[in-house]
Amino acid sequence: MGRDHRKLGVRPAHFDAFEVALIEALRMRAGARWTGELEDAWLRMLRLAVSAMVRGADEAIAEPPSWEATVTSHEFRTPHLAVLRVRPHQPYAFRAGQYASLESPLLEQAWRPYYLACAPHPDGELEFHVRAQRADGVSDALVHGTRVGGTVRLSAPRGALALPERTPSADVLLIASGTGWAATKALLQHIDSERSRAHRVRLLLDGRTGEGVYDAAYLEDFRLGRPWLTVLTCQAEPAGPAGPAGPSADRPALRVLDKMLAQRPGAAARQHVFLALAPEVPEASMTDSLRAVAARLAAAGVPASHIHHDTAALTGVTGTSASTTRTGLRSA
Ligand SMILES: Cc1cc2nc3c(=O)[nH]c(=O)nc-3n(C[C@H](O)[C@H](O)[C@H](O)COP(=O)(O)OP(=O)(O)OC[C@H]3O[C@@H](n4cnc5c(N)ncnc54)[C@H](O)[C@@H]3O)c2cc1C
Repeated sequence: MGRDHRKLGVRPAHFDAFEVALIEALRMRAGARWTGELEDAWLRMLRLAVSAMVRGADEAIAEPPSWEATVTSHEFRTPHLAVLRVRPHQPYAFRAGQYASLESPLLEQAWRPYYLACAPHPDGELEFHVRAQRADGVSDALVHGTRVGGTVRLSAPRGALALPERTPSADVLLIASGTGWAATKALLQHIDSERSRAHRVRLLLDGRTGEGVYDAAYLEDFRLGRPWLTVLTCQAEPAGPAGPAGPSADRPALRVLDKMLAQRPGAAARQHVFLALAPEVPEASMTDSLRAVAARLAAAGVPASHIHHDTAALTGVTGTSASTTRTGLRSA
């Protein structure tokens, strides 16, 4: 967070003001229940957190607080979903599977996270897939208010879906829906570039969110001549009386997942699973589906430390948090 907050112009001196303001707010809110002991405990906790954030900011001193990038391509794939390519003005190091926060010049200081939809490439160009959810938001500005030649700002990359430099040679199961495909696209490109590593990769792409699988031509082309990759897609079904997003909307994908897990029952304990489920959908409405997927993986014997995700909603189901999952995969 200390590294990331530099994009907002936060400097170490601001933390003193933050500490004073927070303690004052707590004191006012707690009223007669506020004691010297309580204040000391809060101060200890705050200073511990602040020192970690200052350390994070210090460690990132050699890199810019944010990166300006020029939009080199902007393509509509559906009326509300655009694929943007941008070229940062300074080198931008990241790992496949990570996300960056983006700021549009139309909404200064409003930053929102988006997956980097490509593995690092020598030409330095980055790809993002953005689905506009509501008028006036950052996604809307990126989809409907951005043109080739315009600029955006990027934060430092983050995320728990990143593969380490050398991916473990275990089986990999990628489960994606909506713009979560962006993260898995990057992971596939990264695995493909590591030709010396033996992988068996399965991708379950649920196209029933939003307007379906919007990058199908790329996927069709990519899977050709890559026998290590198995792709299963769930397409939108015609709307029934309850509509495609009714209470049973996640069932076909879960049925496919059950089948995949049953195919090689003994292999579950060794595989790594990466979940990138429709990040553009409000978290509350995705929680049930996410939990259903995580519970099935756990029941099939996938260890919690092998389930990678960026979603706080899964913490407690998989037994790991979004940040600890990353540590679980990191190779030496
Ligand atoms: C790790 C991660 C990766 C992501 N990657 C992508 C990606 O690759 N592509 C992508 O498109 N998205 C991605 N997202 C989701 C994206 O960051 C969010 O959808 C983001 O909030 C959009 O910003 P916004 O300003 O357009 O909308 P926000 O203002 O942030 O609104 C977000 C949601 O809240 C609802 N909302 C907001 N205000 C109101 C209100 N007043 N009343 C009712 N509902 C409201 C909106 O309908 C919307 O669904 C990712 C999210 C995470 C956490």
